[in-house]
Amino acid sequence: MNAKQVRPLVLCYHAVSSTWQSQLAIPERALERQLGLLAKRGYVGLTLSDAERRRADRSLPARSVVVTFDDGFASTLRALPILAEVGFPGTVFPVTGFVGSGRTLSWPGIEHELTDETEAELRPLRWSELETLHEVGWEVGSHTVNHPLLTAVDDARLDTELRASRREILDRLGTCDSVSYPYGRADERVAAGAARAGYSVACTLTMVHLEDEPLRRPRVNLASADTGLRLRLQVAPPMQSLRRSRPARLARTLHRNRSWLPQAD
Ligand SMILES: [Zn+2]
Repeated sequence: MNAKQVRPLVLCYHAVSSTWQSQLAIPERALERQLGLLAKRGYVGLTLSDAERRRADRSLPARSVVVTFDDGFASTLRALPILAEVGFPGTVFPVTGFVGSGRTLSWPGIEHELTDETEAELRPLRWSELETLHEVGWEVGSHTVNHPLLTAVDDARLDTELRASRREILDRLGTCDSVSYPYGRADERVAAGAARAGYSVACTLTMVHLEDEPLRRPRVNLASADTGLRLRLQVAPPMQSLRRSRPARLARTLHRNRSWLPQAD
């Protein structure tokens, strides 16, 4: 394979739960099946920053996967033994304003999820739990302080969201090289803000973006239904290229993903 074309498969998950019926939650069994299939196919698990470094120095394995979890749901901990079983490290992106706040996760797009039954599912990871993940080899990146749609905030707020979240993770864990943009969205101005804040890699969602550059790396958002054939198609390299290059598919996907976005967008 041409070294230039080797790139990691970057997966995006949110919560991990068998009982929470939400598009944000993947059941443990489905996660096991998806990652088990990749391990069987020879995929090597890397953190997002490691994958970026190895991509830059051309030492990326022919098949590598980065398993990311947005938002920092406490249920991310349920993924820990599942990833350990296949030897993949995870990369988690907490929203720092919620960590240790005692508040459940809430922002435009998920605030309707809160009920008496789902309150526990919306609990954020604690700093001690993020430390544990960091200690076992997971990467902890930023998902901003408050989870705004960064393309819609002014420059001052953009800088605060990106810098203050990175600062806090740096202070707590000693490292913070990556950021996942809320709602998977970033334009050139947002990517420039991430560079100013000191991040070396950042990710969007494939469904939303065609760009593939260090501060706008696309990810595949896998729903629990994506097992078997659909997963096989999604992770095959030609299909990845096809997905990025077909405007029609992008348009359909944008339409499908609209529920993720704040009303204002
Ligand atoms: Zn998010």
